[in-house]
Amino acid sequence: MTIAERLIARLREAGLDLREGSRLVRVYPSRAMRNEGAWSWSAFGPGGRELQIGSQYPMAELLAAEKLDTMQVMSGAVGSDTEVFPAKTCQRCQGTAVAACRICRRPHCRPCFTDHHHEGYAAPTEQTW
Ligand SMILES: [Zn+2]
Ligand SMILES: [Zn+2]
Repeated sequence: MTIAERLIARLREAGLDLREGSRLVRVYPSRAMRNEGAWSWSAFGPGGRELQIGSQYPMAELLAAEKLDTMQVMSGAVGSDTEVFPAKTCQRCQGTAVAACRICRRPHCRPCFTDHHHEGYAAPTEQTW
């Protein structure tokens, strides 16, 4: 299976409506567009219809993630796009992580992060995804 086929399988598991014959197509945004969060791939249905599903994360990076999450991105009158991103798991309680520790780089959910400290350092500065 190609990376795109494996990612389609993962996306279906994550609950996305990708019918048989759907394709993921790589797009090649310029560096400037990438900085603005342009997608690196987007999904097309069997008839070539754009499914408004995609991600700024490369396919290989999403495949490597333990878990995938999706987020609705509003795009004006046209409706919303669905963006896929790697979900991180809290290293303490296995919940969905929202922040990473700056010192040890481990992902944490909000409650666990609140009482995560390192001896001799100031309280970690949070970094959100
Ligand atoms: Zn936790
Ligand atoms: Zn830490």
